[in-house]
Amino acid sequence: MTYKNDPRRITAKFTSICSKCSCTIKKGTQIYYWPSDRKAYCLNCGEVPYLQFRSAAADEDVYAGTGNPYCG
Ligand SMILES: [Zn+2]
Repeated sequence: MTYKNDPRRITAKFTSICSKCSCTIKKGTQIYYWPSDRKAYCLNCGEVPYLQFRSAAADEDVYAGTGNPYCG
């Protein structure tokens, strides 16, 4: 089950700034995007909350199994 405001992993269409660590997100790189907040996060910052969201939404045993140090 998905919702239109679900966070998603997308390819950045333009260069922007990570909403958490303020690192530069270059056009063409993979990012996590939260449509509801209109915020973009770099992979390091977005992965954990993204996986947490997916885990909660799907009620699956999907957890971040690897370390995800914040960039910046
Ligand atoms: Zn970041």
